[in-house]
Amino acid sequence: MYLKLLFTTMADQLKVWLDGEFMPMEEAKVPIMTHSLQYGSGIFEGIRSYETRKGTAIFRLDEHVKRFLRTAKIYSMKLQATADEIREAIIETVRINRLKSCYIRPFAFYNSDEIGLHTGNKKVSVFIGAVPFGSYFGESRATGVRCKVSSWRRINSAILPIQAKASGNYTNSIIASNEAKAAGYDEAILTSQNGHIAEGPGQNIFMVHDGKLITPNKDSDILLGITRDSLIKIAIANNIDVIERFVHREELYTADELFFAGTAAEITPIVSVDNIQIGDGKVGPLTNSLFEKFSAVVHGTNTYFSEWLEEIEL
Ligand code: PMP
Repeated sequence: MYLKLLFTTMADQLKVWLDGEFMPMEEAKVPIMTHSLQYGSGIFEGIRSYETRKGTAIFRLDEHVKRFLRTAKIYSMKLQATADEIREAIIETVRINRLKSCYIRPFAFYNSDEIGLHTGNKKVSVFIGAVPFGSYFGESRATGVRCKVSSWRRINSAILPIQAKASGNYTNSIIASNEAKAAGYDEAILTSQNGHIAEGPGQNIFMVHDGKLITPNKDSDILLGITRDSLIKIAIANNIDVIERFVHREELYTADELFFAGTAAEITPIVSVDNIQIGDGKVGPLTNSLFEKFSAVVHGTNTYFSEWLEEIEL
């Protein structure tokens, strides 16, 4: 109750950026008939900032802004803000709210309540909000999650552009996640159209077999995540073999270690799939070591990838 009150008070005080202006979160409202609310035609990003010794740093800001613009391009959505303006607005949103460690949500949407699917010349609005955010999986971030291979297949590029982070794509994620939770699991793992392992509803997946790090390749109907890319680069820099290839369902069962990777999930161990224990059922050594290495990079204690950190003064 106390925590809920505290968060409500904080959320009330947070300022968000909408089409070039800062305003209290509660004033950023849209009509109920808004196109993007009715049809899922919004596009978004998820970015984190972390506390570092020098202050606060946004992790891989430029890559996230680029992906946001790529998503807009795929949908021919004409943003009224440039990459630089969006970038600066993100920095300013973190700064103005004095958020040391947070989750940032850029969102662009058709700000029109006119009925009809065609987006035509409908007004596009750009929103940026940031909220304090801990672990996506709560305490299971450290102890591991139990997963179920979903009966739902991952959408693929013949159906919807999956490299676009469009709101509508996430109904596929939501139904898979809900199915897994209703069956008593923590999270779903989706397969691709041809039955290979794809990814989690909002996270990429990695497995460890004989000391090698293996992850589904780009033809496995996955979003090529920025955390996935960061981990591949961190692993290579640490002489760990990384293989991107098709992954079969039973390989998950026999993996030594398994984990999710994503901005929200960070690195979250998976301790069982379809009730089959992974390895000895505990968080594996390579998972732990990669989490420590990743943490050192995002918190700026390992400066090898310091170009990934956009440092800001609060
Ligand atoms: N897959 C999906 C479907 C996602 O929504 C996300 C989160 N953006 C990821 C993977 C991980 O991507 P990133 O590391 O860029 O957050």
